[in-house]
Amino acid sequence: MSTHPPAADLAARLERARRAARATEVDALLITPGPDLRYLVGYDAIPLERLTCLVVPAEGDSRIVVPGLEKPAALASPIAELGIDVLTWGETDDPYALVASLLPEHSRVALDNHMWAEKVLRLRAAMPGSEQLLAGAVLRELRIRKSPEEVEALRRAGAAIDRVHARVPEWLRAGRTEREVGRDIADAIVAEGHVRVDFVIVASGPNGASPHHELSDRVIEAGDPVVVDIGGTMPDGYCSDETRTYSVGQPPAEFADYYAVLLEAQLAACAHVRPGVTAESVDAAARDVIAGAGYGERFVHRTGHGIGLETHEEPYIVSGNAEPLEPGMAFSIEPGIYLPGRHGARIEDIVVCGETEGERLNLQPRELVVV
Ligand code: ZN
Ligand code: ZN
Repeated sequence: MSTHPPAADLAARLERARRAARATEVDALLITPGPDLRYLVGYDAIPLERLTCLVVPAEGDSRIVVPGLEKPAALASPIAELGIDVLTWGETDDPYALVASLLPEHSRVALDNHMWAEKVLRLRAAMPGSEQLLAGAVLRELRIRKSPEEVEALRRAGAAIDRVHARVPEWLRAGRTEREVGRDIADAIVAEGHVRVDFVIVASGPNGASPHHELSDRVIEAGDPVVVDIGGTMPDGYCSDETRTYSVGQPPAEFADYYAVLLEAQLAACAHVRPGVTAESVDAAARDVIAGAGYGERFVHRTGHGIGLETHEEPYIVSGNAEPLEPGMAFSIEPGIYLPGRHGARIEDIVVCGETEGERLNLQPRELVVV
């Protein structure tokens, strides 16, 4: 079951979106099922081939076009409470023409970044005089800073995935496959309060050197380091994402050496977070420690990504992103060191920028867990 914010909060978001549209000279936002629709009106619609499209004009009332058979689902969301008219279309109607009829002929329309290409092209054909741009440019200013309620939602998600990691030592042992361990973890992700498992990475031994390895039938052996990176979606739509690295029995000596470097890097990046510092300086805080110890070439990805209604969203914690951090920005800090053919390690917490410093939303110990 999905839950949503109070209608008054959603109404305030819609008003801010309209203001942002006016500020960027956009005539209307066209939003299809996905995180933006959920953010603006609390409607957790399933993305389908039939068009559902929220039309938010810069001036005037918002309306939503939905397939007739989706009307009950739409009305079960806060849409009715928000006073948004629901316009339905039948199986033989043209919903794209219906959307076009709601807008002036020559409009600047901002399309949901996640709109399917087939819908983008059919809207373009239905509105030949209109200019299309991305709604993400308008909505990023709203979504990139989390409200106190959103931070609380991320805190709950962080605590839920912490509880799963706390139980990983029960399941991780030599002789079991990654897939078997992954199944236990997936069950626990749901049991601890998520409505959906988004990903389960159990990367043992040499598989740990591949940052996005998922699960395989490899049998875990004594002495294997194991990277466990897991996340899910909570009933309110907010996501969790946390990595810890375990060792089944005593790990190789060289692994223990670079794990200590990695831990120092992750601590340094977390300590660096405060308003006004740039996203790229958080990346540098982790990277400098790892490079200084001679593992710079082995840290093959950015330090982190924003998180909220999506697991990966802005701000990205990466070299080249000079955007200053502001209170309410939430993102991962997840440096890794990967030795191809041998093993790897990653430590990941979600951190939210507060008024004076960062707050970690994952609180499981970060030291290597020997099981
Ligand atoms: Zn992760
Ligand atoms: Zn992550």
